[in-house]
Amino acid sequence: MKHSTGEAAGKGNYRCILCSEIIILKEDSEKLPACPRCDSTKWIKTDSNPE
Ligand SMILES: [Zn+2]
Repeated sequence: MKHSTGEAAGKGNYRCILCSEIIILKEDSEKLPACPRCDSTKWIKTDSNPE
């Protein structure tokens, strides 16, 4: 399922569709940023844990 920058998509891990950067939202109210690496605005929720 795809999500966009500015969307409060719920806490969890999101992977950038372009460069595979992983970001983590820690609160359900937190909004997705633009990708810090490639500036993409599209994310896919992922269960993989970067730790
Ligand atoms: Zn990216």
